Amino acid sequence: MILTAEKDYLASLKRARENLPAHVFEKSRFEIPQGDIFQEGNRTWITDWNRILKILNRENDADHLSKHLAGEFATSATEERGRLFLQGKFSRTMVNRELAAYVKEFVLCEECGKPDTKLVREGRILIKVCEACGARGAVK
Ligand SMILES: [Zn+2]
Repeated sequence: MILTAEKDYLASLKRARENLPAHVFEKSRFEIPQGDIFQEGNRTWITDWNRILKILNRENDADHLSKHLAGEFATSATEERGRLFLQGKFSRTMVNRELAAYVKEFVLCEECGKPDTKLVREGRILIKVCEACGARGAVK
C-alpha cells in the first residue's frame, strides 16, 4: 500500500519530469545544429532560423545571435517570418562555422558541456548561466 503523501510525492516528481525539456534526459553529447543555408541574389538566408533558436534555447535572445552573425560577417542581419537573412553572399560552410563558434562560446556550459544555459546581463557584463549545473561565467 502506498501512502497518500508518497503518492503525491511520486505524482509531483512525474510532473516535474514532464515539464523538463526532453534533451535533459539524453545521454548523448549535444550536437551543434547545422543551419539550412541558401543564397538568393545578394542575400544569404538561414531558412530554419526558428528551429535553430529553439534547439539552442535562444528564442528570447535571438537578437544576440543575429547581431553576432552580422558582426562576424560585417553585414546586417534581418529576421523575416521565421527566417534570417544576411546581406551578402556567404557559403553554407561559413555560416555554419560561425554558428558553431557562437554555440561553443555563448551556449554550451564550460563546466558540464550542456546547452541548458541562458545569457544574463549584469550591468555591462554578459553572464552565461547554466541551468543544469549552476555554473556562471562572463562572456565577452
Ligand atoms: Zn553546466
